Amino acid sequence: MTRKSQVAVTRRRFTQLAAAAAATPLIAAPGIARGQAAAHVVVIGGGFGGATAAKYLKKGAPDLRVTLVEPNDSFITCPYSNLVLGGWRDLESITHRYDKLRDRWGIEHVREEATAIDAAARSVTLAGGDTLMYDRLIVSPGIDLRPPEDGGIAGYDEAAYEAMPHAWKPGAQTLLLRSQLEAMDDGGLFVLAAPPNPFRCPPGPYERVSMIADYFKKNKPNAKILVLDAKERFSKQGLFQQGWDLFYGDMIEWVSLADDGKVIEVDPATRTLITDFGMEHQADVANVVPPQYAKAVARNNGLADASGWCPVDGQTFESTLLPGIHVIGDASIASPMPKSGFAANSQGKTAAAAAIALLEGQELANPAWVNTCYSHVAPDYAISVAGVYKATDAGIISIEGSGGVSPMDANAADRKLKSVYADGWYNSITADMFS
Ligand SMILES: Cc1cc2nc3c(=O)[nH]c(=O)nc-3n(C[C@H](O)[C@H](O)[C@H](O)COP(=O)(O)OP(=O)(O)OC[C@H]3O[C@@H](n4cnc5c(N)ncnc54)[C@H](O)[C@@H]3O)c2cc1C
Repeated sequence: MTRKSQVAVTRRRFTQLAAAAAATPLIAAPGIARGQAAAHVVVIGGGFGGATAAKYLKKGAPDLRVTLVEPNDSFITCPYSNLVLGGWRDLESITHRYDKLRDRWGIEHVREEATAIDAAARSVTLAGGDTLMYDRLIVSPGIDLRPPEDGGIAGYDEAAYEAMPHAWKPGAQTLLLRSQLEAMDDGGLFVLAAPPNPFRCPPGPYERVSMIADYFKKNKPNAKILVLDAKERFSKQGLFQQGWDLFYGDMIEWVSLADDGKVIEVDPATRTLITDFGMEHQADVANVVPPQYAKAVARNNGLADASGWCPVDGQTFESTLLPGIHVIGDASIASPMPKSGFAANSQGKTAAAAAIALLEGQELANPAWVNTCYSHVAPDYAISVAGVYKATDAGIISIEGSGGVSPMDANAADRKLKSVYADGWYNSITADMFS
């Protein structure tokens, strides 16, 4: 337990830390003011946002006490889990341990779930009943899938996840969906129900379709893929559809919202998906990705608004509802930044810099961020979308004229190069988080 105290972070070091939003390595500088106890920052969730925030807190202020509350001993990334479904990767290759955050960076890892947050008392209660006091709190718990009674799909409750996996949280669900794909007969129908906005990883369902199409092409060439979409359009749509035509012919059919793509009910017993206008699609393998909202620990503790997501100040990612608490990653409302691992990683650095500055009484930086989402479409063929964003008094904005998507007329060598960049991105961001 600690009380609020000062962390000595020089102006120069803070500026360096703020620049880390662009993934620049930092040089550690002297620690806390002499004679004072170290300030304590607690981080809830050790994923893209939280693991990054914890590491960059220690990188920016080595004498700060940092506790990461995360029940698991290792983290399986959603990025590249679609490649596991396609048979390109195994789960082990996308699993990362927390050892170095503990051993190299001196972060205390509490392997429990956080259940309650008391912003007035500045405390976090753990599932086992213990309480952690904090000087600042960073919350990056990710998402929950909406259950039927709270804006989800009728019939798609937890019991249905076995028959119709979502695989939107990686691990056992990824392996389950993969095993169902392997067991499916050639000539079978795979149906993916894609969610409405906003949701985790806008290009994710369509990269998934591509990976599964590649698997079918090699192993079950008579199989069909039906995508039932609750949206009118999707991320990198033209590029995905161009790649699907090129590699998979007429294997994939995409049905938009206007064409009755929105799934409103499922029957797990028969793997049937029912749309808004009453069409019934019976799948041999069904992958249901339902509507989403911020994870329970954020919603149940006053950090989310009526939308189910958490409003934040764009400069610091501090909650606009509860003081002293930063919410980052998918749980936060950071639009136009997407709900991506890249964005969560950058926001982790911003929140770490802001937490140190606020503890130190220093001026805050004006952060800007880059996001790139790569998607594999076929072997040696990938596409990307990039954006550049900055914080303003009116919130986060996209910088006009920056970013963009891969050109439609790129040649095979460009598409191949993009797949190399995608692998490079995966390796560097996971190294940034966990080493
Ligand atoms: C199929 C798929 C593919 C994707 N591909 C990409 C990609 O190529 N590029 C990209 O940038 N993004 C991608 N994403 C998106 C990316 O995974 C998310 O945007 C990112 O994980 C969000 O980070 P986060 O920190 O908000 O949540 P997470 O990374 O999910 O981390 C949340 C952590 O919080 C922990 N937690 C939850 N509740 C509690 C609690 N009560 N107490 C303690 N800990 C808790 C969880 O165990 C978890 O470790 C993909 C997503 C999917 C589903």
